[in-house]
Amino acid sequence: MRLLLLGPPGSGKGTQAQRLAAMTGARHIATGDLVRAEIGAGTELGRRIKDYNDRGDLVPDELILGLVRPYLTKGSWILDGLPRDEAQARALDEMLKEMGVGLDRVIVLVMPDDALIMRLLGRVQSVATAKTYHVTYDPPPQDDPGPFVRRADDTPEDVRRRLEIYHAETEPLQRYYAGRGLLRQVNTRGPIDTVAAAILQAVDDDPARPTPGHRVKGPG
Ligand code: AMP
Repeated sequence: MRLLLLGPPGSGKGTQAQRLAAMTGARHIATGDLVRAEIGAGTELGRRIKDYNDRGDLVPDELILGLVRPYLTKGSWILDGLPRDEAQARALDEMLKEMGVGLDRVIVLVMPDDALIMRLLGRVQSVATAKTYHVTYDPPPQDDPGPFVRRADDTPEDVRRRLEIYHAETEPLQRYYAGRGLLRQVNTRGPIDTVAAAILQAVDDDPARPTPGHRVKGPG
């Protein structure tokens, strides 16, 4: 299975990808994590991309594509965080074609903006376990020693900017993938396991079935 997860910031792409990876054995590739790891390691590339990341802006395409390329192997994977716009989608297609690797399904996680903002502004991550919590709705348990930190780009201004970028640049990709019959939408309301099960069901869905709302010509 090679799966692409699309969805706005805060829709749970990372959480779901981790869960699905544990359930299926596929590798979770998160471009945001690759970016933060590179910055944390203090490499030359990390220094070049830090300012973009801290502002909530996208890192230039050639840098992000170079970073992700070694992970896009012939095995199973779940890609989360790329593509962010049509240029990246085309570049990703090119890269996969060159490597002889196919994409099986594109899942879009759907969630309204007000719920996303609420989630992102309360989100904290444990430095010890890397697990993500919400200060009000999913507070850290006693056995996670923390410390708990917020992401540099989870401020009100950066969240607004990231959502704007998503709606303007990433959301239109649904048409791009729907045209190839790869796209399925999954609602993210409900517990993590329920959403994960809905994603797996959508992955198994008949690839020949047209995406709802995407018209194909029938006989006559
Ligand atoms: P995320 O964890 O997916 O929200 O990504 C965090 C940050 O990493 C983004 O705000 C960008 O600065 C950078 N980033 C992650 N994926 C990409 C991408 N596909 N293209 C450009 N920048 C990216």
